[in-house]
Amino acid sequence: MIKKQSNFTLQKLLVTFIITTIVAMFAACNFTIDDKNSTQNEFVAAETSNGHAINSAANDSSNTSEKSNPDTSNNDSSQQETIAQAKKLIDGYFYDEAIALLETVKNNKEAIELQQKSEKLKNSLVKYEGRHYHVFFHSLIIDTAKAFDGDYMQQGYNMYMTTVSEFQKMLPLLLQENFILYDITDMVEFRNGKAYPKDIYLPEGKKPLVLSIDDVNYYEYMKNDGFANRLDVDSDGNVVTIVKNKDGSESVTYDGDVMPILDAFVHEHPEFSWKGAKGIVAVTGYQGAFGYRITDYKKHSKDDINQMREKVKEVASALRNTGWQIANHSYTHNRYWTEKTMTMGQLQYDIRRWLEEIAPYVGSTNIIITPFGVTYDQKDPRFRYIIDSGFNIYCPVGADMSMSWQKDNMMSSRLNLDGITMLAYPKRISRHFFEPSLVLDPSRPPLNMEKNTKKSKRSVETPINTPALPYDYENTTPISKKESVEHIDNELKPINSSQATDYTTQIESNQIHLDNKKQQNNNTNYENNDFYQ
Ligand SMILES: [Zn+2]
Repeated sequence: MIKKQSNFTLQKLLVTFIITTIVAMFAACNFTIDDKNSTQNEFVAAETSNGHAINSAANDSSNTSEKSNPDTSNNDSSQQETIAQAKKLIDGYFYDEAIALLETVKNNKEAIELQQKSEKLKNSLVKYEGRHYHVFFHSLIIDTAKAFDGDYMQQGYNMYMTTVSEFQKMLPLLLQENFILYDITDMVEFRNGKAYPKDIYLPEGKKPLVLSIDDVNYYEYMKNDGFANRLDVDSDGNVVTIVKNKDGSESVTYDGDVMPILDAFVHEHPEFSWKGAKGIVAVTGYQGAFGYRITDYKKHSKDDINQMREKVKEVASALRNTGWQIANHSYTHNRYWTEKTMTMGQLQYDIRRWLEEIAPYVGSTNIIITPFGVTYDQKDPRFRYIIDSGFNIYCPVGADMSMSWQKDNMMSSRLNLDGITMLAYPKRISRHFFEPSLVLDPSRPPLNMEKNTKKSKRSVETPINTPALPYDYENTTPISKKESVEHIDNELKPINSSQATDYTTQIESNQIHLDNKKQQNNNTNYENNDFYQ
């Protein structure tokens, strides 16, 4: 059973606003509402397509309906409540909605002033002409003692992960630097199959920020390493993290990953989000989604699978209702993506599995966040296949955070705000966002890239095999010695900004899923292999 937490979202506020407006209209027409629930039921009936969270929001609204009984619509407390709601809407840039809500408050000076303020703010928005920003994370490290316990996983977590305390410290700094979370799907318009940039209007001086989280799957390899176990939804429709305790019991937490932490921050600071936008949650498929093993990774009873699938639907619905987008991060996350040995058959298998095994539960999406941040040439048949499969917002990795609209697709490169960037390439962050030293978790071990590189160099002498996967693939080609050396050379080169994109892609290229590696050889020192994620 998940405990309640009052986490007010703008989405809910909007529903509340609609309800309040309906009630006010009834009041204006001298309708008598005998049964308050009838209003709620009508509304829910009209909105059921949005599922769980709307129901939850409607439940909240029913409370509001009771409070704003038409007979007392002009009393002080109900007016004050409406005004407070309007203020929240204004803070979150819902100017038209605030104005309409305030229309329902009669003969109130404050309401009139707020309406004028909202109108003024709306008219002062300016078209954004600046550069674009897209940052990404992996699931956050909750327990640093477990992640940085000296085992062979430590270095990988240190490089590619961010801790809870670091993420929590980043948010006020991003807010202070005038960033506003922006929905990537509102940055592109598709007309006649072609992609065009969509105008962005923001308060003067503000900058749109897209944020994404890769591999929100809570893989087996992360068990006992200080991460959340899975996502769930509380009775108010908030996405929560489920964390396993030492004694095997589970706790519901609101600070176990990027999503609940950001939800709470935006609740506190609605001005950090353009109309409630949060970010993109990207999931693979080979171990299910959001921590639920809904695919064929392990044998589960039909009932268990069905129950887990319902949970995934519930989480996905709650995410979408609280401003999140969901993206395909490939089904297999196989290395052939980054080695570019992927055949059309393998790609078709990957896309088909995601569409058949994951999309029905997380919902359809046109966003793909490629594994290893891989980019293909626009003319590459594999790139064409991805776009033609409906994934026309394509997000690779690139420290330059370039955004482009090319024929039928939009590309948005992303900068990793993780250990390797903060420790080894802090300027990539400080030139746009904040000084990484302000947020760095003191429990991080030294990155020690020198040592890592030397060992990796030695490992080149040993052939590196494509990791085993939980299923069979044809044509999995081992990485060649020459390619390995090139990887390392690229890592060693000092980076200037023009090389940044390639470099960061290389970093991702050098990753393999730890889970695959664990299956391959539990005794393998990670440094003897390419890396993961
Ligand atoms: Zn990944």
